[in-house]
Amino acid sequence: MKIRFMECGHCVSKESMMLQGGQRQKVKIPVLVALIEHPQYGKILFDSGCSERFYEATAKWPAKLTALLLPTFVKKEASAKSQLEAMGISAEEINYIIVSHFHVDHICGLKDFPNARFVCSSAALENALASKGWSMLKKGVLPDLLPNDLAERSWIFDKDSSIQQKPLDIFENSFDLFGDERIKLVALPGHHIGQYGAILKNEKEESLFLCADACWLSDSYRENRLPPNLAKLLISDWKAYKNTIGLLHLFHKKYPEINIIPTHCRKTHEALNLLQKSK
Ligand SMILES: [Zn+2]
Repeated sequence: MKIRFMECGHCVSKESMMLQGGQRQKVKIPVLVALIEHPQYGKILFDSGCSERFYEATAKWPAKLTALLLPTFVKKEASAKSQLEAMGISAEEINYIIVSHFHVDHICGLKDFPNARFVCSSAALENALASKGWSMLKKGVLPDLLPNDLAERSWIFDKDSSIQQKPLDIFENSFDLFGDERIKLVALPGHHIGQYGAILKNEKEESLFLCADACWLSDSYRENRLPPNLAKLLISDWKAYKNTIGLLHLFHKKYPEINIIPTHCRKTHEALNLLQKSK
């Protein structure tokens, strides 16, 4: 499949917040979105990145706390919708959006794609739909970013009996979305409720593992290194998170040829020239 990448806005934080022993100066943390072109099922996004909707959605309390904890910057032309238009692709052409999880920097674009079905896990969807008022802080989902018809348009893959669920190597749980081994969704629990990553086959039949926020930086899975304790504030289930990083570490050792791509790791995006390829 043809796979292209876009950087849709960025957050600002310190590397030391993302990795124990990381540097203390503030850095720009890119937000990556993938455009996948499936020969049969058409154009699919993996996540939808940040967009200017972030500012609107975080203007009032309690959502404002999100913007204070994680300052985020995005220009109009950096949204997934605008970047796709610049490539000659209209928002209407997107058939599916795989929502790795419902944190703000992954869902700002959901409302921009009127024909997309939202591919998400039952736990992630349930948590998102229950996020209201002050509970949004605990749920980690800003309800203003959710399309009104989110539930109707969602494809809850882990409740779809036509999709086979099976372990994928050392990962307990995976779903071959279209049954053709091109998009395998892999459970990566811990960071946020119901999070899944995707192992994709590119045009050269190489596998790419989009691991969403299972870790923020590649050094985490390479060295099995965790974020500092303070980062626990941003993580739903620390024990599961640690376990998932351990699994990614083992998977990487076993299959070093598979590129693991965290959404926010600039070093990985640059090393693999991900953004160059999209031009
Ligand atoms: Zn994120």
